[in-house]
Amino acid sequence: MKTTCPYCGVGCGVAATVDEAGSVTIAGDPDHPANFGRLCSKGAALGETLDPDGRLLRPWVDGRPADWDNALDLVAARFADTIAEHGPDSVAFYVSGQFLTEDYYVANKLMKGFIGSANIDTNSRLCMASTVAGHRRAFGTDTVPGCYADLEQADLVVLVGSNLAWCHPVLYQRLAAARAARPEMRLVVIDPRRTATADAADLHLAIRPDGDAALFNGLLVHLADTDALDRAYLAAHTEGLDEALAAARGLDVAGLAAATGLDAGPIARFFALFRDTRRVVTVFSQGVNQSTGGTDKVNAILNCHLATGRIGRPGMGPFSVTGQPNAMGGREVGGLANQLAAHMDLADPADRERVRRFWNAPCMPEAGGLKAVDLFQAMADGRVKAVWIMCTNPVDSLPDADRVAAALDACPFVVVSDAMADTDTTRHADVLLPAAGWSEKDGTVTNSERRISRQRAFRAAPGEARPDWWALVEVARRMGFGDAFPYRNAAEIFREHAALSAIDNHGARDFDIGGLAGLSDPAYDALEPVQWPARTAAEAALPDRRFFADGRFYTASGRGRLVPVIPPTARPAAADSFVLNTGRVRDHWHTLTRTGLSPRLSAHLAEPFAEIHPADARRIGAAEAGLLRIESDRGAILVRALVTDRVPSGSVFVPMHWTDRFASAARVDAVIPPATDPHSGQPGSKSATVRVTPYAAAWYGFAVLADRPRAVDAAYWALARAHNGWKLELADAAPVSNWAAWIRTLIGIADSDPAVQVLAYRDAKAGIHRVAAFRDDRLIGALFVGPDPVAVSRTWAAERLGDGPAEPRQRYAILAGRAGGDQPDPGAIVCSCFAVGVNRIVAAIAGQGCASVNEIGAATNAGTNCGSCRAEIQRIVDHARSRDTGIEKAG
Ligand code: SF4
Repeated sequence: MKTTCPYCGVGCGVAATVDEAGSVTIAGDPDHPANFGRLCSKGAALGETLDPDGRLLRPWVDGRPADWDNALDLVAARFADTIAEHGPDSVAFYVSGQFLTEDYYVANKLMKGFIGSANIDTNSRLCMASTVAGHRRAFGTDTVPGCYADLEQADLVVLVGSNLAWCHPVLYQRLAAARAARPEMRLVVIDPRRTATADAADLHLAIRPDGDAALFNGLLVHLADTDALDRAYLAAHTEGLDEALAAARGLDVAGLAAATGLDAGPIARFFALFRDTRRVVTVFSQGVNQSTGGTDKVNAILNCHLATGRIGRPGMGPFSVTGQPNAMGGREVGGLANQLAAHMDLADPADRERVRRFWNAPCMPEAGGLKAVDLFQAMADGRVKAVWIMCTNPVDSLPDADRVAAALDACPFVVVSDAMADTDTTRHADVLLPAAGWSEKDGTVTNSERRISRQRAFRAAPGEARPDWWALVEVARRMGFGDAFPYRNAAEIFREHAALSAIDNHGARDFDIGGLAGLSDPAYDALEPVQWPARTAAEAALPDRRFFADGRFYTASGRGRLVPVIPPTARPAAADSFVLNTGRVRDHWHTLTRTGLSPRLSAHLAEPFAEIHPADARRIGAAEAGLLRIESDRGAILVRALVTDRVPSGSVFVPMHWTDRFASAARVDAVIPPATDPHSGQPGSKSATVRVTPYAAAWYGFAVLADRPRAVDAAYWALARAHNGWKLELADAAPVSNWAAWIRTLIGIADSDPAVQVLAYRDAKAGIHRVAAFRDDRLIGALFVGPDPVAVSRTWAAERLGDGPAEPRQRYAILAGRAGGDQPDPGAIVCSCFAVGVNRIVAAIAGQGCASVNEIGAATNAGTNCGSCRAEIQRIVDHARSRDTGIEKAG
């Protein structure tokens, strides 16, 4: 069965095969034009995430099991009563870029057309709202002009705020393959961190956080002053150059250096590369969007492409890549609080009337609704009294996350639809509705190059889980809107969505998929990936469509608009403060509800961490692998210290993924203030001011456990899946007097259980304790404790959980925490696909003379499947080479 990956906005095609026993095999779809058969580590491990363990299997009301009818009756009645008493703006939906387009369409129609409020917003607000706002300012519409092939056809690719190698790995692999075929291609990476992507760049500009708008303003001035503007294109097709240039000239050379934190040399090199290369693609992502100046950053980039006429042609253009699988689909149906359906404008009376007529809607809001951060504030202060949260986890993902949890507690009626039973958000629900997940639900998603692909159901949903669109339709019917919500399947919804996009269009709007409005149910089932616009069936069949090559835009004048951008003033940092940068890791995605189920994906980076520069670590007295407390006036987290010069001094980087289900205190959004971009409402998630202090642990520990512990009595813990069990990192400032009793409590075994044998080793003077517990000679738990971060082979120890009955010699090896001489220790996992650890790679370099990523692949298989780890393997090879030769890699 062909379907689409549910993770990032690359939108890779997946071929899923289910055998008679129900096991699922996953492969890349060789025919899908996004990935041509490739998958990254996350996509390749999708089969490991289908475990029914932890799923929400039935509705719950007030903490008690309920049936669907009762739960839906209650939801409809409470929403109707609240609207009757307090008006339509007293209720809200908060939805998701993981929604399918059909879910999104129904939710938006119900809220905007029938409830009569625009209070529907989405976690895509946190992903790409600034791109939407920037596109609309420049183009008049939210249009991604190009396609993925442009990255392969360009002679220069500029990545701004994008760790493409980890966050959009298959797109990165396409770029890497193009560079291998055409070595003259150049790659510039603009990112405060030296990421895996930056390692591969010809030029890495380690820019000051939020210095991007100043840099691209400087580029615009440089292009003008070196006579590199496309004056003919500017005159024929754009407006606003003079104003944009005047704003950009606000910084002189010294000001540009101060705003960007970059030396004049690298800036000049970048400017010259951009100026002298016709085929340039500028890819931008969360480092641009997740900023309180994100919209201006977007427009500063678009200005440079408009000013050079490099847009909408092969190998040229600005290119936004979305983090989510269907952020684009949400934009198409108008799933943001300030949008209308089908890229129409909520503020335009003609658009409102057109949609009202099409829906036969009784009411339409005339103004935008509450954007995500404001929406939760409105719950806290009592303006919003009923909310339905679908397919997202705002208690972890919104800034000021502790206040988000409090807002949910303050809201009189909270409905949560989710596939998982226990998330940090479901814990606050009055009504829980079980949602069908990936592999169980049917619909479409749109990827970053405007390509619509089918997600197909190939397994039955467990328990009573149902698609989200179905639950929305059932509530709409109960609220008296049944005639407008007659849908029996996803195909019917898609046809209506497609028909709406074409109404009165005639080329007036970018988003038009009218050519798909007549699809039969079987044709919808069989729909091949199709890129919009698809105004006719014939157009739908065309490959690689681009916008704006003809110089016609969707602004009132029909011209592309250069927007004046005033960059933010660089804030002087207080001596004891740090800038908190956040982001993703290679093998995890969002809040771990899916990737956290996979042992393979949990092998690469298994606990929350903060990257900190060695000079800063020395200054604050932080030790490598110690713990750091990171706090702001909003909250605090406790994470592992990863001392590395990959982050600039004065900054720390913390991943966004860890939640209260997987760690004691690592919800990074608890630390981030709710400041937003004034145009887009997108939070600035990458530049909070924080204090960082070392945590004085009395002991550190590591445990492997056959079962997930119910509770962990430690100030710091972080839990990760392992094959046959769990891995647990531990630390606390308070000493423990009896470790054997402690692990019994952790595992949940009674003192009197005769089937359990406990083996212990203790060096009280050194503070070292090791305990292993066996049931029927099989390891069920082992604990390693010491005064410093424990040097135990995590991979090897976790693998012992699956072993057969342990001989006495093996039991003592477990207590020792390392392999005996006859058992290799792979070390920390680098290649998730083949479980190849760093020790094996180093051995291949030292023992077998491997000198390249390909040679390592031939010797160990590492990097030969999904390729996500190739950048890290290259780093290990470079490190070994520099150690041998004393030469550091330049750049
Ligand atoms: S790059 Fe990876 S996560 Fe993104 S869609 Fe493709 S397989 Fe999925």
